[in-house]
Amino acid sequence: MLIVQKYGGTSVGDLARIESVCNRIIGSIKNDNKLVIVVSAMSGETNKLISYANHFSKTPNLKDMDMLLSTGERVTSALLSIALNQKGFKAISMTGRKAGIKTNSAHTYAKIVSIDNQNIQDKLNDGNIVIIAGFQGVDQNQEVTTLGRGGSDLSAVAIAGAIGADLCEIYTDVDGIYTSDPRIVKKAKKLSEISYEEMLELASLGAKVMQNRSIEMAKKMNVNLIVRSSFNNNEGTLITKEEKIMEKPYVTGIALDNNQARVSLSGVKDRPGIASEIFTALSNENLNIDMIVQTIGRDGETNIDFTIPQSDIQRTKQTLKNFTHDFGSADYDEYIVKISIVGSGMRSNSGVASKAFTTLAQEGINIMMISTSEIRISMIIQRKYGELIARELHSIYGLDVV
Ligand code: ASP
Ligand code: MG
Repeated sequence: MLIVQKYGGTSVGDLARIESVCNRIIGSIKNDNKLVIVVSAMSGETNKLISYANHFSKTPNLKDMDMLLSTGERVTSALLSIALNQKGFKAISMTGRKAGIKTNSAHTYAKIVSIDNQNIQDKLNDGNIVIIAGFQGVDQNQEVTTLGRGGSDLSAVAIAGAIGADLCEIYTDVDGIYTSDPRIVKKAKKLSEISYEEMLELASLGAKVMQNRSIEMAKKMNVNLIVRSSFNNNEGTLITKEEKIMEKPYVTGIALDNNQARVSLSGVKDRPGIASEIFTALSNENLNIDMIVQTIGRDGETNIDFTIPQSDIQRTKQTLKNFTHDFGSADYDEYIVKISIVGSGMRSNSGVASKAFTTLAQEGINIMMISTSEIRISMIIQRKYGELIARELHSIYGLDVV
C-alpha cells in the first residue's frame, strides 16, 4: 500500500516523541508499504516564532513571516530523517517546494494550486521513506508560502490525493472522532467511521479535530482519512465517502457550539431589499452570519434574528448603526448555545427532529431558533441548558457507550 502519514505538533513535540514516531514508521514499512510522512512543527513552535516576530513588529511583512514560519516544519522533517537513517532506514527529507507544492501568493494563508508529484515518486521508487515539511509550498516566483494555521493537515491530504495514496493517516493526540465532546458527554464513544459530509458538519460545529479545509480537500480528491493517536495503538476513525460506510445509524453525533451570540432585530421595515442591504453590509465586514430566521411580517414590520460568532458582537453593533432607520431595536444575547444533531441517516429517516423537540419540551426548555440541512438539525437554546441537553440527546438517539 501507498500510505501518507501526517504527524501533528504534539506527536513530534520533543525528541523522545520524534523517536517514538520513528519507531511507528518503521513498524509501518512491513508488507512492502511505501510511506510518505508529512510533519508539523513541534507543538508550540509556530506560536513561538510568531512571538519572536512580534517582538520587533506587530505588522511584519508577510513574506518574511513565511520565511520564518516555514522553518518549524523543516526542523521536524530533517530530525525525523536523521533519526530514521541512523536506525538503518533509507529516508529523505524535503521542503514543500521540493515536494512540488505550488500555491498562490497569499502569504501566511496561501492556497494550494497544484502539486507536481514527480520528485516524491522518484524518491519513493528509489526505496526512500519520503519525509515532507508540512504547512508550506512555493508560489510562482519561488517564494516560500505557508497555508494558514493548522495547514499541515492540508499538505498531507493534498499530497495523498496527488500521489493516489491508498490511505492518509492523521496522527494526533486524540483517539479519533467521537459522537460528542467526551469532556461534556461522558458516555460519548469513538466512531469507527464517519462520512466527509458528517465530519464537515461536526467540525464546523465545534468538533475541532481537523481543519475543515482539509476535509473538503479529502472529499474532493477522494482521499480515505484515518484520524488516530500517535500515543497508543488504538484504531482510529475512518473518514470516507458515505457509500463506503457500512453502518448507518440515523444520528452520528451531537455537537455543542458555545461561541455564538444571537442578534434580534425587531420592528424591521418589511420591504423588498432590506435583508439584502443588512446582510451585505455585514458580509462586507467579513462577519460570519450563521442561522437566520425572519418571522412573517405584520403591519409593515417584521423581526429578523441571526447568530454571529461572539467575538464579533462589537463589529456587528458598529455595522448595524448604519441601519437605525430600518428597524426598531437590536438585542444581543450572548448566553446561548447552538446544539446540533448530525447524521446522514436522517436523509431516509423521519422523526429525528420531532424527537429532539419533544425532549426539549419535556424539560420545559424554549427553542429560540431552528435551522436544518439534509443531514443536520441545529437549535439555539439558553446556554445553561446546553450540556444537559447534549447528554440527553446523546442518550435518546442511542449513542451512549454501553
Ligand atoms: N505548525 C503549523 C501551526 O501550528 C501548522 C500545523 O501544525 O499544522 O499552525
Ligand atoms: Mg497542528
